[in-house]
Amino acid sequence: MSASLVLHVRDPAYVPASVADMEQVLLQVGLIGKSWGDSAQQRYLIGEHFLQLVTFLGCAPAIELEPPAKGNTEFCHVGISGIYAAPRFVADTQSVLPRCPHCRKRYADWQFAIQSWRTDPAYRTHCPACQRSLSPTELDWCQSAGFGHFFIYIYNIYPREAIPTEALLNTLSKVTGLTWDYFYTRESCELEGD
Ligand SMILES: [Zn+2]
Repeated sequence: MSASLVLHVRDPAYVPASVADMEQVLLQVGLIGKSWGDSAQQRYLIGEHFLQLVTFLGCAPAIELEPPAKGNTEFCHVGISGIYAAPRFVADTQSVLPRCPHCRKRYADWQFAIQSWRTDPAYRTHCPACQRSLSPTELDWCQSAGFGHFFIYIYNIYPREAIPTEALLNTLSKVTGLTWDYFYTRESCELEGD
């Protein structure tokens, strides 16, 4: 599993009607083009506006945008995860270090908080530093984890090699009526089971 830039709706409770609906949204904004591959997951070549919607940062190496002849997946393309029955927590690695959104102190015991959240999505804990009540979904994961019923993967992007433009996040927000966010994964640690 290669590195990805992952887009998701910030509200972990949101469930889209179907993958086809989300596909329409991404086609409309020009992030995706033709569908590609024959895997179980929906994958797409980049769309006509992709390079205006995702900014590659200065020192990024040459990014492969075309599918290689041998049919492997080592190039930049887009995938839509399935729509999961329960919201999932996806993290870059097991060693992510979220911060309290109020006092910015590190929240070290997040694995326990995530396990509790999996059992009960309404679970709340409190910050040991400032004592404020918070849900694990409110922690600042510093672009290394996210929650949702589905995720849009932009494959073969390493952390901070590229970022979604404000325009992309704004357009997705406008089309869906929801706030979008992003993070990066390298191992795709899905701690939430099916
Ligand atoms: Zn705090």
